[in-house]
Amino acid sequence: MSTTVRVRFAPSPTGFLHIGNLRVALFDYLTAKTLNGKLILRIEDTDQKREVAGAVDSLIDILNWAGIKFDEGPRQGGNYGPYVQSQRKQIYQEQAAALLKKGGAYRCFCGEDKLKTMREEQQAKKLPPRYDRTCRDLTDKQALKKVLAGEKFVIRQKMPLSGEIIVHDELRGDIKFQAGDLEDHVLIKSDGLPTYQFANIVDDHLMAISHVLRGDEWLSSFPKNVLLYQAFNWQPPKFIHLPLIINKDGGKLSKRQGDVAVEDFKNKGYLSEALINFIVLLGWHPSASDKMPREKTDEILSQDEMIKYFDYQDIGTSPAIFDVEKLDYFNGYYIRQMSLEKLSKLCLPFLGANLQLTSNPKKQAEDYIKQVVALEQERLKRLAEIGELTKFMFADDLEYGRAMLIWKKLDFVQVKANLQTIFELLEKIPQASWQGKTLETAIMNYLKTEGLKTGDYLWPMRVALTGLKASPGPFEVAGVLGKEESLQRINQAIKKLG
Ligand code: GLU
Repeated sequence: MSTTVRVRFAPSPTGFLHIGNLRVALFDYLTAKTLNGKLILRIEDTDQKREVAGAVDSLIDILNWAGIKFDEGPRQGGNYGPYVQSQRKQIYQEQAAALLKKGGAYRCFCGEDKLKTMREEQQAKKLPPRYDRTCRDLTDKQALKKVLAGEKFVIRQKMPLSGEIIVHDELRGDIKFQAGDLEDHVLIKSDGLPTYQFANIVDDHLMAISHVLRGDEWLSSFPKNVLLYQAFNWQPPKFIHLPLIINKDGGKLSKRQGDVAVEDFKNKGYLSEALINFIVLLGWHPSASDKMPREKTDEILSQDEMIKYFDYQDIGTSPAIFDVEKLDYFNGYYIRQMSLEKLSKLCLPFLGANLQLTSNPKKQAEDYIKQVVALEQERLKRLAEIGELTKFMFADDLEYGRAMLIWKKLDFVQVKANLQTIFELLEKIPQASWQGKTLETAIMNYLKTEGLKTGDYLWPMRVALTGLKASPGPFEVAGVLGKEESLQRINQAIKKLG
């Protein structure tokens, strides 16, 4: 094995990146970074049936979005290419031939029908379905004769017939398997293409991979993989099986229960920083690191901090809980930290429909949009919410029932009079000093001097300006709307009251 650390992410292009796979990619990335190694992207597309057009491009794009950068891969190339398995058929053929020669594998000519009958018989006898190794004992001569006669075949791995197989996982230590439980599984299919189990191991070896991180659903394949290394007489890499990710109810994350595609999280307006911060805690925690400063008690981690504290040896083995509320918390945090410039740019795609609500060019201007976004920055959890939350700032007409203007026990006449007072106070404020703070001082001073209750005035004022039961405060809103629009909205409310 090479002494240089080389870690690979080896997704199958199924059309979207599963959130669990993003965690694999992130832990791959952090392992490579912390050990001064290289990160390699390899596309495992030998299962042609599952492939989706454009899937490789969208996969690479979403990984880029998440901030995971590769040193080698289909886009940037490298010395160990090609990095797409469908372009490596020749290599698998050669390696399979070499393994046949070494006696680690054999050609199997049993067709689908025969295998089906075999399975049915085994089922009837309540035996686990398994290939019965009919072709394992064919001599080379017999096998070649069949090949020359044009018989179709697969290549199977020759498993030990008895004994214990001990494999080593970096997190779990030694794990024992019984050879009797293993099947002579297929390495090369009848169409000449390799199975995942074969291509994956051949590539890891030829690409000089030093650390393999993968989901623990692959633990059951682990003995087969190690036996294949042994059959080739190759040194296996270090294996790190990542803990399962479960939802809050303890079940598996599934597409039915919500989104599992990273693209869906992006489309809902999760920031990549927040998603990555959330994902890194699925199975690892910075408190495990002795490099972590004591005074740091929160779980907010920048990519640099992750690289500083991460150590794959600190990854846990018990299932990690995927708690969307926690993700929302992180997202809200990163939204609040973000510069307004950047945030309003990111919000823009979610504001398209709102911009259609107005014919006023002032409300379509960049500066206005920025101020509207600022109104919501504190409470925004997902960027996609910005549309619904800020409709009222764009609409030329607000639609709400006049009953909403009524505060507690006041009646229509009183509310109307109060709004009139607010209107007159606001009218006096010059355009040049029209700002949330100024408006607040003017109105609050007045209410205080006159001994009036704030709710009696500020509730109807806020509803008049927003048409909503809950919204940002009236002064901030009026400040952003501007004098003309604010007065017009208050006037509309007065008219509504008859
Ligand atoms: N192509 C496999 C997958 O989709 C790779 C697993 C591994 O990392 O070995 O998950």
